Amino acid sequence: MINADCSPLKAPLIFDSHSHYDDEGFDEIRDCLLNELPNNGVCGIVTCGCDKASCQKAISLAEKYDYIYAAVGIHPDNISTGTTVQDIRLLAESKNVVAIGEIGLDYFHNAENKTEQIKLFEEQILLAKELDLPVIVHDREAHADTLEILKKHKPKGVLHCFSGSVEMAAEILKLGMYIGIGGVITFKNAKKLPDVVKMLPMDRMLLETDCPYLAPEPFRGKLCHSAMIYYTAEKIAEIKDISLNEILEKTAENSKKLFGL
Ligand SMILES: [Zn+2]
Repeated sequence: MINADCSPLKAPLIFDSHSHYDDEGFDEIRDCLLNELPNNGVCGIVTCGCDKASCQKAISLAEKYDYIYAAVGIHPDNISTGTTVQDIRLLAESKNVVAIGEIGLDYFHNAENKTEQIKLFEEQILLAKELDLPVIVHDREAHADTLEILKKHKPKGVLHCFSGSVEMAAEILKLGMYIGIGGVITFKNAKKLPDVVKMLPMDRMLLETDCPYLAPEPFRGKLCHSAMIYYTAEKIAEIKDISLNEILEKTAENSKKLFGL
């Protein structure tokens, strides 16, 4: 099922802090894959919901697999699905829910409903704070507004698939948040990201896939899964001149700390 080249790792060291295993891209292979990942170096996964239906699927996966945890939230691209913050509040009652996400701002896909996105983002941050859960934040081409809102509410959490500047990363670190690094770091056109990885302290870095998207090199464009984090970590180890095992161990420890595991 899993190509052995995907992860030569035998010890379960990989914690994938951001994935979408409810995605229909996994429909044909989901159970087979999720049964195999722990034998291919994976020790933990957070799968994020984006609206009510996908949050319910995320929770079912977390109920079925010991090493999988769920995050629930309304993604900015899913505003029109009709999912309400009250729905998220009820979903978050499941003991398998460890975060509110994926929430945030996306001005790349939707530039015409910024006000609505900001309102929903803020309401979900307030919910996370009330429930004492971390947030998993999506920011696509909305750096200034994302930063302003995070500074205003100071939630605990992670800015996932970080795409900002070194200066923005420094601001996020000042807020006590974590920064999620995914397969993009292995891409030749990852412009600012290597500098961000260079400056990022090891106690603030999380690894992630955002699968089924963003498979790292040498699998770019293929269906991505958590074992491929091996290649993301290998690139980070090279950039930071730290051993691969240390990168995997430290980032798994960070995820467990943030998500209270
Ligand atoms: Zn995502």
